Amino acid sequence: MRLEGRNAVVTGGSRGIGRAICLELARQGANIVFSYAGNTAAAEETLSQLREVGIKAIALQGDVADGQAAKALADTAVKELGSLDILVNNAGITRDGLAMTLKEEDFDAVVDTNLKGAFLCMKAAVRPMMKARYGRIVNLTSVVALRGNPGQINYCASKAGLIGMTKSLAKELGSRGVTVNAVAPGFIDTDMTSAMPESARQAMLATIPLSRPGQPEDVARAVAFLASDEASYITGQVLCVDGGMAM
Ligand code: NAP
Repeated sequence: MRLEGRNAVVTGGSRGIGRAICLELARQGANIVFSYAGNTAAAEETLSQLREVGIKAIALQGDVADGQAAKALADTAVKELGSLDILVNNAGITRDGLAMTLKEEDFDAVVDTNLKGAFLCMKAAVRPMMKARYGRIVNLTSVVALRGNPGQINYCASKAGLIGMTKSLAKELGSRGVTVNAVAPGFIDTDMTSAMPESARQAMLATIPLSRPGQPEDVARAVAFLASDEASYITGQVLCVDGGMAM
């Protein structure tokens, strides 16, 4: 129970990696506020699994790219749970297409959700964390931010930008007891990757030294470590959870 008494905000907690992160933090003792975009049935399932663990859990529907919704997450943690100790920026989307034909609106949607959304949530979390002189921020980037990926110029830009924001904020907040790190998953079995054509999936699997896709729980355990006191001397880092893919 290394997160006993901690209060966490997780964006995009209704499904996939976000749900696994909520559950892992909860199993380690943290209370959870999580957000979701619109899948209420999935959010209710996460909520019920969290309550079975026996911690306090709150779900808020809202778009992370909306400043008011991002602020509501931080405010809810402080008002309803008593503090905001951990922020995990996990919400993310893809709108793939080759650069030549990619629609401007698909570029904007991905950057707004994945990059601006994380900025808005971090902005809202900074004040309570600085006041408490304690905080753990973990941002979900991707191995493709390090390697590039054809057909994902928007997604790679957003996830590479997130690494830049992680390092910058780590430098801004280091003296206040707040660490800021990123986790870069490789190929993880979720709704996001199940939408890929089988040929692309097989091509991706062939590049993984551990020869298997990762599970959301593999990522969640790394996030929980970076959110814990055991990671107190780690900041501004990118931890790949990718079966060796980005080596
Ligand atoms: P997923 O299964 O598609 O789930 C996405 C989650 O984000 C859902 O909870 C969704 O809510 C939420 N969300 C989407 N847009 C949102 C918005 N505008 N505001 C608030 N919440 C929003 O994705 P995943 O595979 O678990 O990925 C989680 C994170 O890991 C993402 O940042 C992704 O880029 C990153 N990642 C994933 C992989 C992978 O292989 N899966 C690899 C590298 C990085 P609803 O349920 O309401 O739609």
